[in-house]
Amino acid sequence: MRRSLESPLDERSRALRRLVISALEGGGRGHFGSSMSLIEILRALYDNFLRYRVDQPEWPGRDRFILSKGHGCLTLYALLADKGFIERDALRGFCSQHSCLGGHPEVGKIPGVEASTGALGHGLSIGVGMALASHIRGDSSRVVVVTGDGEINEGSVWEAAMSAAKHRLESLTVMIDYNKLQSYGATRDVARPGATDGQMARLRIRGKRGQRP
Ligand SMILES: [Mg+2]
Repeated sequence: MRRSLESPLDERSRALRRLVISALEGGGRGHFGSSMSLIEILRALYDNFLRYRVDQPEWPGRDRFILSKGHGCLTLYALLADKGFIERDALRGFCSQHSCLGGHPEVGKIPGVEASTGALGHGLSIGVGMALASHIRGDSSRVVVVTGDGEINEGSVWEAAMSAAKHRLESLTVMIDYNKLQSYGATRDVARPGATDGQMARLRIRGKRGQRP
């Protein structure tokens, strides 16, 4: 049976969309589609998975989240405002001269942001470094990286993935926002997503514990 395309959003998803739109309206710019496809991914992470302390953003035991597709930052800002890292009113100043909320997230300027991203293909490498550091420290911090499906055309993403498999970084999770679109059109027209599946399968095998990398 075909599923209805009119699957209703619950109130929380609608509220998060309203926050994104308020920032978009305030700034008069922003990557709308790329932000919308992220909402349920970040909602699930911030509501149910990531460990953090809003009143102590630098808490050493926190999990690290990296939005590698930094152009989707409207949704990251909406979640940070929703959780209380930043004021909700700050969203309206998106991209204004004196706002910390720029067109791409910057670490050190925005509480809760762990890495400056936007130059695509770098977030996973940063995440590998963070996961290695956590392993060396012997703590239980987890690292989650969200990339775009167009972003994984970048070769540096696969270099980082191979490195993660080699070091068997089980605390590192990568999620791909598979919205099937990128700047130049449909992902299937730019590169073959099926090739990605094969590469992922090989990395899973290589990353298994107990096997030589
Ligand atoms: Mg995409």
